[in-house]
Amino acid sequence: MEKTEEKRSLREERRLIWRAIKLWQTLVPGVWMWSALSQAVNAVSPYFGLWMSARIVNELSGDCEIRTLAALAVITVAGTFFLSMLGRFLKSRSDLSWLYVHPRHMEYVGYTQNAFPFAHTEDPDVLLKSAEIEAANSAFEGGLVSVRRNAEYVIQHALNIVLSVSLAFSMFTLRGEGESDGFLGFLNSPLSALALAVLVGVIAFLHIRGAAATAVRLQEAVSELPYENTRAFAFFRQKGSDMILFNLNRVVLAERRQRLHPKWAERMADARRWSGSRTAVLNAALNIAVFIFVAGRAYAGAFGIGSFILYQGAVTRFVNGFSALASCLGALRYNNGHLVKLYEYLDLPNEMYKGSLAVEKRDDLDYEIEFRDVSFQYPRTDAWALRHVNMKFRIGEKLAIVGENGSGKTTFIKLLCRLYDPTEGKILLNGIDVTRYRFDEYMGLFSVVFQDYTLFDFPLGDNVAASMDYDRARVRDCLIRAGMGEKLKSLDAEAKERGRDALDLAVGRGYDSEGMDLSGGERQKTALARALYKDAPFVILDEPTAALDPIAEAAVYEDFNKIAEDKTTVFISHRLSSCKFCDEIVVFDHGSIVQKGSHEELAADKTGKYHALWTAQAQYYTAG
Ligand code: ADP
Repeated sequence: MEKTEEKRSLREERRLIWRAIKLWQTLVPGVWMWSALSQAVNAVSPYFGLWMSARIVNELSGDCEIRTLAALAVITVAGTFFLSMLGRFLKSRSDLSWLYVHPRHMEYVGYTQNAFPFAHTEDPDVLLKSAEIEAANSAFEGGLVSVRRNAEYVIQHALNIVLSVSLAFSMFTLRGEGESDGFLGFLNSPLSALALAVLVGVIAFLHIRGAAATAVRLQEAVSELPYENTRAFAFFRQKGSDMILFNLNRVVLAERRQRLHPKWAERMADARRWSGSRTAVLNAALNIAVFIFVAGRAYAGAFGIGSFILYQGAVTRFVNGFSALASCLGALRYNNGHLVKLYEYLDLPNEMYKGSLAVEKRDDLDYEIEFRDVSFQYPRTDAWALRHVNMKFRIGEKLAIVGENGSGKTTFIKLLCRLYDPTEGKILLNGIDVTRYRFDEYMGLFSVVFQDYTLFDFPLGDNVAASMDYDRARVRDCLIRAGMGEKLKSLDAEAKERGRDALDLAVGRGYDSEGMDLSGGERQKTALARALYKDAPFVILDEPTAALDPIAEAAVYEDFNKIAEDKTTVFISHRLSSCKFCDEIVVFDHGSIVQKGSHEELAADKTGKYHALWTAQAQYYTAG
């Protein structure tokens, strides 16, 4: 279980909120301007009404001049109408900016997440942080969204306070000429004004203290949520046929209920109830005091009935505005606990982006990559996934990497593409440590199709080009070269009937009911077409064919070998037959390279690992 966070200074609290405010301004430009304008006009409107009513009542109970009354009535009606129209317009603009809040929030967090180094996506601590942030956001609206909401309330309540004080201020200075003895005399004296001012100050202070205490209690209640519980939010997002077949939702629910701190919901409710009662009592006390003060002074003749209404109304608004302001500030403070977690997550260091050297563009594809005594441990593990690996890629070579499952083949590729950096040793590109190159440019050298390639339910063309803006002829060419020629023909015919282009039809029906149903093999060919479209000097296939039988896999690899032309191509498989055709075969065993050579050379070495694997797998290759 995570412990309650340490105390933050007021400056630190402000800094956290300020960062969120600035972030919203960037995510939804104009958000604060429309919000402040709308709040200002909507705050002024009732005061305008109150002020005008007071003047009318004063006029009625005083001179009762008909022309003045008519003028006041016209100003009241016209002013109220104008303010209400302006208020509505501004509110609609402000509401419009609100509509962007949730999507922009998702985009921002999601996009930052996608820019993370790959290592974060496999790091359990990072995954947990992400689940916690999501839990805070969905269960308590905690985090950035809460700042947006509460900061708007702060503007609203602060304006209410300023306006009510400016309207009610004269009640402290106006005094009746008459009565000056006893309690009424006290009420009419400067002393009572001072006493009321002190009382207002004390109650304001109690509100702020109380709201801060509530904030701490809420924060404590949230931090007592067991760590695992937040993770349970993520479980619900899992999809798949086994969720239904094994009714896995049931176990997710049971886990979640069992792990949910039983006292947690009660503690949250308690903190809120306590806060509500405190506010009601303090506000009632202040209202009573103000009422006695204003009524006493009015009775002593300090002001007319109209002003009495004005003051009473203004002070009630002040009291409500003040307690609401205090609770909003408290809510912002409580929310800072969530912000700290969010910022920690968004600011996770990205060591991958340190390099600044440009990767030279070369038409001759003369990129020489060398692994020099590379060893690697996955974060938070003791085992060596790679140990003392030395390897030079020859340009234009067709290289195979073979070895049993778990022997380090994929890890080797992940390091080659800088999804991870070596724990020991170096990887060099044309003699220079790859960490010194710009990460995005270095990544641009590789086209990889992993086993778990991703295709979105987006249009076929977008999937192949990894962009919405692409060269259609080239996408088609890549699809055809990847073996999708026949399928493309039938898709074209289908699309034509609907007046569409096959490349615009979605892969899958997630977003488009006219989307296509591709078989496993066709999906894989689409992924291969994407690798071709990237047109990178290195093309790597990391067993994307695992779902195929060994003979079909070998055929796909050989075909791909032909279409990869002059590129340096790396084929990875635990099935040796798939890679027989390659110029050089590298055999991995327990994280190390144990053999190198052509198929004939390796097969001839009867004591070697390759021979042992070949013999063990021979049964598959003779079939069918
Ligand atoms: P192969 O591709 O040859 O099947 P891998 O490179 O995937 O092998 O795995 C090599 C070793 O590293 C295995 O022992 C595997 O359990 C371990 N490993 C792979 N991925 C991770 C990871 N994300 N975290 C920790 N260990 C891992």
